[in-house]
Amino acid sequence: MNPNWNGQFSRFDLVARSGVKPRESSRSVVRVRDIEIGGDDFVVMAGPCAVESEDQLLHTAEAVAKAGARILRGGAYKPRSSPYAFQGLGVEGLKILRKARQATGLAIVTEAMSEEDVDLVAEYADIMQVGTRSMENYSLLDTLGRCGRPVLLKRGMTATLEELLCSAQILAAAGNPEIILCERGIRTFETATRNTLDIAAVPVLKTVSHFPVIVDPSHAAGVRCLVPALARAAVAVGADGLLVEVHPHPDQALSDGEQSLSFSEFREMMDDLEPFLAIGRAAAQPRPHLFAVGGTDS
Ligand code: PEP
Ligand code: MN
Repeated sequence: MNPNWNGQFSRFDLVARSGVKPRESSRSVVRVRDIEIGGDDFVVMAGPCAVESEDQLLHTAEAVAKAGARILRGGAYKPRSSPYAFQGLGVEGLKILRKARQATGLAIVTEAMSEEDVDLVAEYADIMQVGTRSMENYSLLDTLGRCGRPVLLKRGMTATLEELLCSAQILAAAGNPEIILCERGIRTFETATRNTLDIAAVPVLKTVSHFPVIVDPSHAAGVRCLVPALARAAVAVGADGLLVEVHPHPDQALSDGEQSLSFSEFREMMDDLEPFLAIGRAAAQPRPHLFAVGGTDS
């Protein structure tokens, strides 16, 4: 463990600096409508990389809801490395997200890329996503600290966990303690995957901070065949949920099609996660023998 940390990211430090009142429990639970992220439930957020059309999003919303997702993802403002790539539908995309929420009851997570977009996106989103490229956009974080919505903060692709937690502190210090951390893979020398999923980030972050931690296996893998295995790994290390890309026709997606699951692949992944979730729940139960007092020495 990084000796420089010295507990500096403990919730108490955060509370002291931000003036936020401590909660009773030692872990923060982010509540979105009737959903609790960081509580007992494993919360799956799923949907397309980008909102492309009403038809695409509504179909996806229905499919992921049926398979057990609680939150619909979809970018209306897309941070793309190339200026020639699809940049998202903007406000039109936000309106489609709202329709999907009305139709399915799913909560919405979508990205705000710039300070100017924050108020508008907050009108439509239940959770504001900060993308990997924006984790160090401190003025955006500061504005999001005052937006009145929970924030899903993705780890920068070249950021250390310490830097991720500093960004979380900027949000909290600006007045927003409703933060969900997201490990989405980092840049390493490995080229077999789009990014390297730093699976150890989950237990580390859950040890040194009180925030819920979710995993995005899609952007880590870059290819859909690896997504279910990384999702299982996320469950095994105690993540609080997943952010997964799903598209009705992944091969025709305008962004991130190679890593997007089809509806049937998503359903299968969710079914296959069940036994792992059950093991996780059983492991989280107190084990009576650990609490036995005054037993024999035999
Ligand atoms: C996304 O969630 O589609 C996205 C752009 O993710 P990231 O910021 O992790 O690349
Ligand atoms: Mn994407």
